Amino acid sequence: MPPKKTAKKKTTKKHSRSVVQRKNTTIPISVFANVMKQIDAAAEKLHIDKSIMDFIKVPRRSTMMNLPVRMDDGSFKMFQAFRVQHSIARGPAKGGIRFHPNVSLDEVQALASWMTWKSAVVNIPFGGGKGGVVCDPTKMSEGELERTMRRYTADMIDLFGPDDDVPAPDVGTGPKTMAWFMDTYSMRENRSIPGVVTGKPINLGGSLGRNEATGRGVMLTTRSAAKHLGLDLATATASVQGFGNVGSISARLLHELGVKFTHVADVTGSITNSKGIDIPKLIKYVEKNKTVLGFPGTKECKPQDVLYAKVDILVPAALENQITEKNAGKVRARIIAEGANGPVTPEADVILAKNNIFVIPDILCNAGGVTVSYFEWVQNRIGYYWTEEEVNQRLEQKMDLAFEDVLKASKDNKTTMRIAAFIVAITRVVDVVKLRGIYS
Ligand code: NAD
Repeated sequence: MPPKKTAKKKTTKKHSRSVVQRKNTTIPISVFANVMKQIDAAAEKLHIDKSIMDFIKVPRRSTMMNLPVRMDDGSFKMFQAFRVQHSIARGPAKGGIRFHPNVSLDEVQALASWMTWKSAVVNIPFGGGKGGVVCDPTKMSEGELERTMRRYTADMIDLFGPDDDVPAPDVGTGPKTMAWFMDTYSMRENRSIPGVVTGKPINLGGSLGRNEATGRGVMLTTRSAAKHLGLDLATATASVQGFGNVGSISARLLHELGVKFTHVADVTGSITNSKGIDIPKLIKYVEKNKTVLGFPGTKECKPQDVLYAKVDILVPAALENQITEKNAGKVRARIIAEGANGPVTPEADVILAKNNIFVIPDILCNAGGVTVSYFEWVQNRIGYYWTEEEVNQRLEQKMDLAFEDVLKASKDNKTTMRIAAFIVAITRVVDVVKLRGIYS
């Protein structure tokens, strides 16, 4: 019988951000199911009452709406939109708004849940939330994007507030989109309320250091991991998948510490140079050419070479589900620093642990962004703004402490850094839930 080619092709396209190929079929990986597995693995070590675990695992509120948006040609187009508030136990729901064609409720719930655990790992007083609009921002004009963001804010306005739910940028959104969010929200209240959203432009109450914060956090946690493993960064090698905000900034900051990057990939292709790639020059090249391909002194390589390179540090900083049970055995790095959210599946984690690969889990590694978002929210509320040095210094303190807490939990419980990070986070959330009690 001939293979059923048509069905396979359709599924691949729809779920292209979260699929694994298994023989002749393509099976989407539910990212939310992955988070549940990670939580269960940690809960097993913690012996927490099952009813409390049931309470903290599921999202508190998931909102789905269809937004009508006027397009430039005068027609109206409907866009599906989500806002998930996973937890408000430790503070307002906190998390970005993603504009991407593959946004789904499953993905937004997973990302909202990770935000709860991420905020708890770095010990900031936030819960977890996330939002998304199913749209392709690369094919929309600035006016269409503005109307989409304003309609999103207006239609879900009762969910948001500095003490309720504080969004931020994510894939496909940025400081300008957050300015529209802040303005739409503020206009209903007839006064400026900068603390309702973070990741704003600096002139509108954004924090210095926010743009670099996630990459800086990746660098700081990698530095701590290297120290723990006795790896000298001045002679270390690395590869990075994804060269956007997180990938390029973490690569630049690690490069400044002496790390030699031999492989870099973005969505357009992958490049290599065994002698090392000049990261600051590559950043300028990508700004101009919108691709890493053709960067002088490098040759093109296969995308998988970047993941399987024999380097000390691998920084996945692009998409979810990149290292799965199918390819985890081929990873040869000593440290994986998860710049992206969910780049390693739970099944792959088991293989990596067996192979003695030290994974700095996403909820710790990329928590620099939410930490400086917290600093931005604090500065907005006190109306006093810190210098970039102050922001970076405070970030360093938070990240170093969080790494120590997770490493200690990993040693105490004889487990991986991922499970340890969840142990730290779940313990902090459960403590608060127990103190508050469950109102019913
Ligand atoms: P970005 O859009 O700035 O960059 C994404 C990069 O990934 C681009 O270089 C793109 O070309 C590349 N890419 C996309 N598909 C790829 C593929 N198949 N192979 C190789 N490269 C590919 O996004 P970002 O803000 O850097 O976010 C990257 C990841 O980090 C996401 O998982 C995001 O959720 C996570 N994250 C971001 C922040 C933040 O503050 N920006 C914070 C925490 C986590």
